[in-house]
Amino acid sequence: MSGSITLTKDEEMMIAVMKKFKTQEYHDFNEDLFLPAQDFISVKENISSSSLFTFLRAMPKGASLHTHILAATSAEYIVKELSYMKNLYMYTWNGKLKLKFMNTSDAEKCAEDFGLCELLSDKRQVQSAKVFDKWLLDQLMITNTPEINSKSKKWTKLSGIFTTLYDMLTYRPAFEKYLKQTLQELVDDNIIYVELRGTFMELYELDGVKYDAMKSLQIMSDVISTFTTTHNETFIGARYIFAPYRKLTDEDFQDSLKLLREAHRKFPHLIAGFDLVGHEDAGGTLRQRVELLQRVHKDIKFYFHAGETNWHGTESDQNLLDAILLGSSRIGHGLSLAKHPELMRLVRDRKIAVEVAPVSNQVLGYVNDLRAHPAVLYARFGIPLVICNDDPTAFGNTGLTFDFYEAYMALTQVDEGPEFLKAAALNSIGHSSMNQFQKRKAYEMFEERWKIWSHGMAAIVSFFGKLSN
Ligand SMILES: [Zn+2]
Repeated sequence: MSGSITLTKDEEMMIAVMKKFKTQEYHDFNEDLFLPAQDFISVKENISSSSLFTFLRAMPKGASLHTHILAATSAEYIVKELSYMKNLYMYTWNGKLKLKFMNTSDAEKCAEDFGLCELLSDKRQVQSAKVFDKWLLDQLMITNTPEINSKSKKWTKLSGIFTTLYDMLTYRPAFEKYLKQTLQELVDDNIIYVELRGTFMELYELDGVKYDAMKSLQIMSDVISTFTTTHNETFIGARYIFAPYRKLTDEDFQDSLKLLREAHRKFPHLIAGFDLVGHEDAGGTLRQRVELLQRVHKDIKFYFHAGETNWHGTESDQNLLDAILLGSSRIGHGLSLAKHPELMRLVRDRKIAVEVAPVSNQVLGYVNDLRAHPAVLYARFGIPLVICNDDPTAFGNTGLTFDFYEAYMALTQVDEGPEFLKAAALNSIGHSSMNQFQKRKAYEMFEERWKIWSHGMAAIVSFFGKLSN
């Protein structure tokens, strides 16, 4: 990419700094200690304390295009802020922890139905807040424990986290705070736009009032609009990809498509498109839904997860072909794409971006050493890539800096500057669902901030230059 671009003096100096610190990391963390080759959860603190991480945190990163709304914000915020809101109860449902805001009579009913329904504030009195909060944090994140030692167990824990959080986050006051915090964490990480994905949730109040999917989308739209207006110097907006579970019954799937049509008609500024989510290797293929999906209105775009598998020739692998044939605008993960040169060519020629989520792919056990990630091949082949965080609540990779770090260290050549990251950031704007006007504004905002960041990095060169004189 750098070959066709004229670099400013600041950029040349910035690239020199980035390369210097990158080389230093290769030196400090040799073959055995190289951080992207180790489990992210074990080395997260080492990554976040590196100088390179600090520089990347300040770097403009464009848009975040693949984040699941029920795992979009740091688990620490959920524990420290939301779980301290009044009237939050916990109980066990089908062996899974559930958190829900309830009034007293609903809590009594819950205790009758599920045996035990306890206020979190009471639990903190009994156990001490510190002990309880640590326990709760562990429930919301994938941790390195012997019980969670396989891909399917990690997926079970991940889907369990969504179950735990759903009723907590759909309490209207908690949802508004949560969504605002999600956007704030992105702004703090120098991200200017986001596409979240999830189901059409139904929010509720403590007094029994329930909002249907459309009213709940209105609440979501209002939060985004207020946040975007008050952060118009640094943030362009957020849109929503409707993404129901891939293994819905036929009837529920058809109902979902009806809701999608209605939501797209009522909230065209908010609804970006459609996806199906859940562990691909566990079933629920695009092929099973192909006839219905072909009938979806052409204005509704697809952003399918596809090929999030290490298998070759399975139904999950074949999702890739169906995603491409259905005209998916981007592909989530696409790990098995490397096994299909002909599909790689199609993806490149049709300019379909692949959403690469290094931390997610490693934590869930698809790619242990990120130098072996197939995105290296996609980049060399000319497929547009965007870097994504997937489920930051569960993985601890809030914002995009952790994924940018992993991508920079593991997916580029050792002597490469951050041009790869800039290309990914620009791709995230170009391959987003923003309209042309918004994209133009996003490019301008990005370039301006890139200039400021490069200038700051160049100042570091001058500072160290003077020190060494
Ligand atoms: Zn995902």
